[in-house]
Amino acid sequence: MDKKTGAYLCQGCGLGDALDIAALEKVAKAEFKLPVIKTHACLCGDEGVALIKADLEAGAVTLPVIGACSPRVMTDRFQFPNAQVLRANLREQVIWSHPAGDEDTQMLAEDMLRMAFTQATKLNAPTPWKEGEFATTLLVVGGGYAGLTAANEAVKAGHDVLLVEKSAQLGGSARGWTKVVPSDPPYREPQDNPLPALVAKVEANKAIRVARNATVTKTAGMPGKFQIELSDGSTHLVGAIVLATGSRPYDATKLGHLGYGASPDVITNVELEIKLASGKVTTKNGQAPKTVAFIQCAGSRDPAHLPYCSSVCCSVSLKQAIQLAKADPQTMVYIVYEEMRTPGQAEEFYRAAQDAGVIFMKGKANKVANGAGLTVTVADELLGQEVPLGPLDLVVLATGMVPNSTDVDAPAQEYGAELLNPDINPYPAADESYKPAPIVPTGGPILNLQYRQGPHLPMLADGFADSHYICFPYETRRTGIYACGPVRRPMDMAETADDARGAVLKAIQVIANAAEGASVHPRVGDLSYPKIGLSACTKCRRCTVECPFGAIDETEQDYPVVNPTRCRRCGTCMGACPVRTIAFDNYSVDMLSSMVKAVNIPDEFDEKPRILVIACENDAYPALDMAGIARHQYSAFVRILPVRCLGSMNLLLINDALSGGYDGVVLMGCKPGDDYQCHFVKGSAMAKERLSKIAETLKSMQLEPERVTMVEASIADSARLPKVIDELVATFDTIGPNPFKGL
Ligand SMILES: Cc1cc2nc3c(=O)[nH]c(=O)nc-3n(C[C@H](O)[C@H](O)[C@H](O)COP(=O)(O)OP(=O)(O)OC[C@H]3O[C@@H](n4cnc5c(N)ncnc54)[C@H](O)[C@@H]3O)c2cc1C
Ligand code: SF4
Ligand code: SF4
Repeated sequence: MDKKTGAYLCQGCGLGDALDIAALEKVAKAEFKLPVIKTHACLCGDEGVALIKADLEAGAVTLPVIGACSPRVMTDRFQFPNAQVLRANLREQVIWSHPAGDEDTQMLAEDMLRMAFTQATKLNAPTPWKEGEFATTLLVVGGGYAGLTAANEAVKAGHDVLLVEKSAQLGGSARGWTKVVPSDPPYREPQDNPLPALVAKVEANKAIRVARNATVTKTAGMPGKFQIELSDGSTHLVGAIVLATGSRPYDATKLGHLGYGASPDVITNVELEIKLASGKVTTKNGQAPKTVAFIQCAGSRDPAHLPYCSSVCCSVSLKQAIQLAKADPQTMVYIVYEEMRTPGQAEEFYRAAQDAGVIFMKGKANKVANGAGLTVTVADELLGQEVPLGPLDLVVLATGMVPNSTDVDAPAQEYGAELLNPDINPYPAADESYKPAPIVPTGGPILNLQYRQGPHLPMLADGFADSHYICFPYETRRTGIYACGPVRRPMDMAETADDARGAVLKAIQVIANAAEGASVHPRVGDLSYPKIGLSACTKCRRCTVECPFGAIDETEQDYPVVNPTRCRRCGTCMGACPVRTIAFDNYSVDMLSSMVKAVNIPDEFDEKPRILVIACENDAYPALDMAGIARHQYSAFVRILPVRCLGSMNLLLINDALSGGYDGVVLMGCKPGDDYQCHFVKGSAMAKERLSKIAETLKSMQLEPERVTMVEASIADSARLPKVIDELVATFDTIGPNPFKGL
């Protein structure tokens, strides 16, 4: 069907008063010769929506362009079956953020329409990728509390499960706990361990196939079509993967200063659990200990060991201390702590330990000496001096959790051939401030991914298999693979169970979406995917390397090949490609470049500079919308071009803008790095990297480097961004007009 674009202009929400609507109609008619141009007093009302619907049904229009409110609102009203819709943001980003009835505001509105009408000429309906059969089985790796909960929940939601456990038994580390920290009111007594009942439930469920003594030796394919090979030689097709490989205790042999290894009476919390489970807690002399000290944060929150808090050790020591104190009220039990981390109802448990006679000492345990009994030297915070605590019969080190994001029993493997994986250090080389210590994987990969970017799951600085999305927990940097439990961050069993449910929900979503050819978050439901024109491809591999999700592999001839259901539709590959041969049906460099060129650039004597703001649709664009909602005003000289991610910004856009006469270009996107992340992990980092290379181009054009800049924006920056924009416009003003204007 031929594309027929229609213009629908709204006069509601003050648009009719603030703008010259007849002049806007003229843009649609005179410049774009649109066959249908309609104005309505309230387009989102029933009558307005019916107007558009009737034109679509009659075939008068195939692609409505709605000049009204932001595309982020009224999405349900302006949604029509089998039709794409474009929106020109005349409300939040024009009349709510600029003075009414002003010449510059009117010019801004007209340019907004020009950009949208031009976008319409380049927009095609996406054809979803739905080749072959899609599997619905879930693979759960790890049979501890997390994996068991995940398997159980997935079956409840109607999915078959393949549960792979490395050891001979299900249950994981919690199998050893006689009692657990209370999760039920009144939160004062150690409770029975819920694990055995869960193991029995899973073992009795016919929809869960359990492979014990097994590991994953190969993971190929993509969401909906993962091909799995296990160490027992069996092969399986699964739709999504839940990683629940848990954690291991921190290596206590590294804690010599705390006496570990010097005396068998210095033990870890895990070793105490073993003694508790045997029913006999004794020292090396075979006697029940009469004086016991727990040392908190043994190797945790310590840059020389584990920099993070392992979150459960405080509650675990309370549990163990109560067990010892209750077994023999004559036993003196001390807990040496820097901070007692017992959030929520765990505070009740802390009080219960005090009531049970446990003595708390606030301070840092600096050393443990082994003489006539054990002595802990405590830098007592309340006394402000070092005090000896002893003689003690038993010292328990509350050691933390180390994530099993690699298989420490398997031979170590590098991330990927040629160390191409930028996830090892997802920060641009040009930016020193973002460089964390490189992560060197210990052990082999757990899933043995057959991906061009290597066999490992990318991990964060502390080795957790998480993408650390602020908004998207459970996700890893590999689509369709979701982590839960302490492999993602330290957590107790109750949190682990919640985590497992969350990860399963994500896994179910990806299975459903993959079968429809639709993306998962953040571009949920997007049916487009990148198509690569191989005739122009120079095999430079930038797309394969820069994809944040490892979605692109290579053929034997070194051509890139997209795995569509791994793709998150960020467009980072499109931004990376130097020959611009990657495009989506509904998003391309050509489309963006045409939109940039659609803006009217006044000549230098008009004293109306034009600044292009390339804004990430996830944070910067909504922050600008919110600025409008709050009626914060900013310069009407900016033209905002929304992009899926700054990663999709191809340098050609900057070239086009500057050679077309824009006075400056601002990239507005998420702050890169693990502490605040781009929605597409490293798209903004890649944009920053690319920007570092623009200086040469500007030099060759004899333009000042200050004409192109990058601004970090978070969704909470609605008050700050208008000021930033005005300051930048003033800066561009001092540089003077772009000499390419009018050429
Ligand atoms: C001493 C101690 C006491 C604790 N006491 C409590 C308590 O009282 N209450 C509480 O809420 N929490 C407690 N916790 C925390 C609790 O144990 C964890 O939250 C919970 O066990 C996490 O479960 P998980 O399944 O994620 O990990 P894990 O229990 O570590 O299980 C992971 C499973 O994955 C398997 N696996 C590992 N690698 C692979 C691989 N490559 N392939 C296949 N399988 C693999 C392992 O064999 C294991 O079975 C305690 C922790 C410690 C250290
Ligand atoms: S870079 Fe983004 S759009 Fe390109 S293949 Fe990877 S996930 Fe998809
Ligand atoms: S970035 Fe472009 S030229 Fe380079 S391999 Fe990918 S498609 Fe080919």
